[in-house]
Order: sequence, then C-alpha cells, then structure tokens
Amino acid sequence: MTTNAVPLTQRSTLDLIGNTPLVLLKGPSEAAGCEIWGKCEFANPGASVKDRAALWIVRDAEARGELQPGGTVVEGTAGNTGIGIALVANALGYKTVIVMPDNQSKEKMDTLRALGAELVLVPPTKFSDPNHFVHTSRRLAEETQGAVWANQFDNIANRKAHIGSTAPEIWGQMEGRIDGFTCAAGTGGTIAGTGMGLKAFDENVVIALTDPHGAALYSYYAEGELKSEGSSVAEGIGQGRITANLEGAPIDTQFRISDEEGLEWVARLLSEEGLCLGLSSGINVAGAVALGRKLVSEGRPAPRIATILCDTGFRYLSSLYNAEWLASKNLPVFPWLAR
Ligand code: PMP
Repeated sequence: MTTNAVPLTQRSTLDLIGNTPLVLLKGPSEAAGCEIWGKCEFANPGASVKDRAALWIVRDAEARGELQPGGTVVEGTAGNTGIGIALVANALGYKTVIVMPDNQSKEKMDTLRALGAELVLVPPTKFSDPNHFVHTSRRLAEETQGAVWANQFDNIANRKAHIGSTAPEIWGQMEGRIDGFTCAAGTGGTIAGTGMGLKAFDENVVIALTDPHGAALYSYYAEGELKSEGSSVAEGIGQGRITANLEGAPIDTQFRISDEEGLEWVARLLSEEGLCLGLSSGINVAGAVALGRKLVSEGRPAPRIATILCDTGFRYLSSLYNAEWLASKNLPVFPWLAR
C-alpha cells in the first residue's frame, strides 16, 4: 500500500468529482518500452470522465445567471455526459432532460432513468439532419421554461474542466515528469483541455490525438482535411468536425486505432491487470502505446506517457462483454466469454 495526496474526506458530494488516481499500466508499459499511466476516470461518481465536464458546465451556467434555482439542464449526449449532469443536477436541485441516440448501450439508458433524468431517445442520424440528437436537445432547451442547454460540444466550459482539473492533477501525480499525453475525442474537451493545461506547465509535452476509425480528426491533423475512413463501435468518441472545444487544441501528432486493437487492450487490461473498461479506454491505451514507441524511437530517454481510462466496462455488459453482440459486429469474442 502506498499513501497519496488525494484527500479521504470531502465536505460535498460534488467534491468527489475529479482527483482520480493515476495508475501505471504494466502490459502497455512493457509493450511500449516505457511508462504508460492511466487516469482512472471510471472512479468518478458517475463512473466516467464526463462528470468533470458536467460539473464545469453547470457551474458556468450558474455563474452566468442562466441557471436559476429549480431550473432544468437539457443535453444531447451519447450517455456519459447525461449521467454526469443528472448527478450534478440532483446534488444542486435542478432537473435533467437527456436526448440520446437510441443505438447507445442499454446500461446507459437504464442508468439515466434510474438517476431520475427524463430520457428522450431519437434515431441516430447525421449531424446536418435537424433531428440529430444535438439539435433536438437545443430545441427542447429553447422550448422549456427555465432550461439551459449544456451544449457540451461547443461550450468551452467543457474543456475548461480539463484545463482546470485533469491537467494539473496529471502534472502533479507525475511530479512534472511527463513526456506525452494522448486520448480520443468525442466533444474534444478532454484532449484539448488536458493538452492545453499540460502545455501551460511544459510546452515540450507531446500531445497526440488518438482517433478511432470512422472519425475525421486523424486526417484533419495529418493532412488538413476532415475525412473519415471505416467505422467504429466505440461509444462516446469519433468526431467529424472541429467543435469549439477542439479549436486551437495543441495537437502535435496523431494515431488512428482500430476497434480490434482497442479491444485487445480492453481484454488484456481486464484479464491481466483486473481493470474492466469501455472501448474508448482500450483505444486510448493503444494510442498511448503508439505514442510511447514513437518517443522511444525518437531517442527520448525513458519517456512517461499518460492517457485517460474514460469509463467503466460495467456500462457495456450487454455489448462489449457479450459474446453474441461481439460476434454480431464481427469482433473477436474474449476467450472467457466463449467458454
Ligand atoms: N470516452 C467515453 C466513453 C465518452 O463517453 C466520452 C465523451 N463523449 C469520451 C471518451 C470523449 O471525451 P470528450 O467528449 O471529452 O472528447
């Protein structure tokens, strides 16, 4: 057992958000030939990295006077932001309305209902369609008395959460000895905010975008053109445009990671290290290994890399951790599920 600086008591449940542990990942470190550290965002009260954005967005709306006592927070989300908003809103006496595409995990829908959020499901469609979940949530907010639209994609209170909390936590936990940081983008809040925050401490920290297939950001940062290739079943990541949160993100390099590579790390982290994670975490870890190898090959002595373990795998028991579901997506089934 080691002691660390995370306080063991908090005066408010909202203070349980953030201050997550950072853990050295053995298999990924061996594969990369350098240290790979994972930020345990599944340890937030809502079990994902999005609790941070939820708290900052709600606090920002309060500070601007938009959110009044008894008001409502409306958001369009793949699920995790909704879960974070519902918890934060409950703690502060607000109501929550969540608009979500109906192809997201059943666990997220059940969780949102269990937390007391009003859930509006819409068919998945392209962003240019006015019925897209993001536009639907904006309209609902406009039509609802006393409601604010969280607008996580283009509200930079989202990335400020990571400038103000994730980055200084990682910097402190790594005692200022960090060579690279990488993660995937959904809204882009995590990569942009953590990247900006870490660069403010040391501009030599290499910030890498890890993009899933089906997203357009890899080609944007590599060639200057938003262009996608292939597809991914990963939830919460995969962006096709430069959101306000991504504007000015200090991306130095980029990797494109397949679902198969991400799943391999999900399987290995579970079976070898006892961590049950979602697929975006596996994709992030694959990206971190790629970044570690790159820095090693460029001659950086003993580089230290950090990435984000975005959410708990318990949120995907009926998908990622289900043999029939994996087979239906032509993805490899974890050996212990096939038994
Ligand atoms: N992983 C998961 C599981 C998520 O729900 C999200 C949020 N959409 C992300 C990663 C990406 O985070 P961000 O929105 O900050 O880019």
